[in-house]
Amino acid sequence: MKDYHSENRSTWCDGCGDYGIWAAIKQALVELKIPPTQTLLCYDVGCHGNMSDKLLGYRFHGLHGRVLPFAAGAKLANPKLPVIAFGGDGASFSEGIGHLVHAVRSHYPIVFVLHNNGNYGLTTGQASSLTPQNQQMNTAPNGIPEATLNSMDFLFSLEPTFVARGFSGDIKQLKEILKAAISHRGFAFVDVLQACPTYNHFATHTMLMQKCFKVEDENHNASDFAKARKLAVDTSKRIATGILYRNENVPNFIERLVPRQGKTTTPVEEVETFDITKLMEEFV
Ligand code: SF4
Ligand code: MG
Repeated sequence: MKDYHSENRSTWCDGCGDYGIWAAIKQALVELKIPPTQTLLCYDVGCHGNMSDKLLGYRFHGLHGRVLPFAAGAKLANPKLPVIAFGGDGASFSEGIGHLVHAVRSHYPIVFVLHNNGNYGLTTGQASSLTPQNQQMNTAPNGIPEATLNSMDFLFSLEPTFVARGFSGDIKQLKEILKAAISHRGFAFVDVLQACPTYNHFATHTMLMQKCFKVEDENHNASDFAKARKLAVDTSKRIATGILYRNENVPNFIERLVPRQGKTTTPVEEVETFDITKLMEEFV
């Protein structure tokens, strides 16, 4: 844990769920014996993105909604590196929703952690597409008129191979979920219900503690796609957390790439030096 420690001070509000996710990812990487120099953590824009300089090692902090293309590109260049991307519910289900769709169908072998606090926290509490309809938010004092996007039903419609849900207040369970996600063969989607005490007054830490239950306590069969989808979508009375669906039998993007088959080196290891002096002369 010391290797990951940064002296930079946190800017998150007291009680923010980002603290729990921050602790869980560090613990997961340490338990998997992955040092900071042998993983790449990529952050979108949002409150969560301020984690990018609160951990030592290789970090990327990108444009709003665009973390997934960068993370996928880095993974394709160096498939030996575990790559973990983080994004908020605002960026991931509005600005970057197209990237999410294609990351799932492409089946890139990366992890995506959704910091799901149900609003745009960094810009002071505007509604995201996952905020409940009619909820009063900043810039929507009469309640938001748009329907809420059913994120989990939408995600399952893309036929993912790994879907899990955690809660920022249960670091122990989240750590185990993240370890499984990092070890997954392809694209792993981890929805983390994150407390935002400053702007989210409809899904508070206390409410989440009361509603969440662990599927591992109820002998859930994570290979049952239909059951997993139902559990993920139906959050009216209780909220299922844990590994909801997992299928390790689907080849990932890199395994499907014909030119890469049989290669023992990575593209970054295959980079060669060329003398381009002659080529440049053409442009003088
Ligand atoms: Fe956390 Fe919300 Fe504060 Fe952002 S606004 S730091 S998400 S509590
Ligand atoms: Mg958010």
